[in-house]
Amino acid sequence: MPCKNHPNAEAVARCAGCQESFCNNCLVELRGRKYCQYCKVMAIGGVQVLADSTSPCDEAKKALWYAILGPFCFVCAIMAIAAALKARREIKGNPRLTGSGKATAALIIAIGWLAVTLFIPILAQAIRGGP
Ligand SMILES: [Zn+2]
Ligand SMILES: [Zn+2]
Repeated sequence: MPCKNHPNAEAVARCAGCQESFCNNCLVELRGRKYCQYCKVMAIGGVQVLADSTSPCDEAKKALWYAILGPFCFVCAIMAIAAALKARREIKGNPRLTGSGKATAALIIAIGWLAVTLFIPILAQAIRGGP
């Protein structure tokens, strides 16, 4: 099958936008999908429109900050978990909100700190109290 732009070149794939066949020189890979020159412009425009319509979730940002403060204050770690859970709920309910990665990271960090803070004294006690 020849390329739509170059009749002498063999097409390697179809454009994800217009479904026409194109050669390697005509196709551009964009977020894992191949596009021709015309559809590429449309696809980039679409990505930008999508990016404009999303907004970062404030709660996720807050959760991450609390998580970072976790080692210095026990309450911050707990607040980080609460904020992260709230952020995840908000993001789930509103697909235009971004920051689920941030919320998950905050959750993992905060739980990690809590575990460390809670388990170190228990561990120390166990070592001290050993036979
Ligand atoms: Zn195309
Ligand atoms: Zn071509």
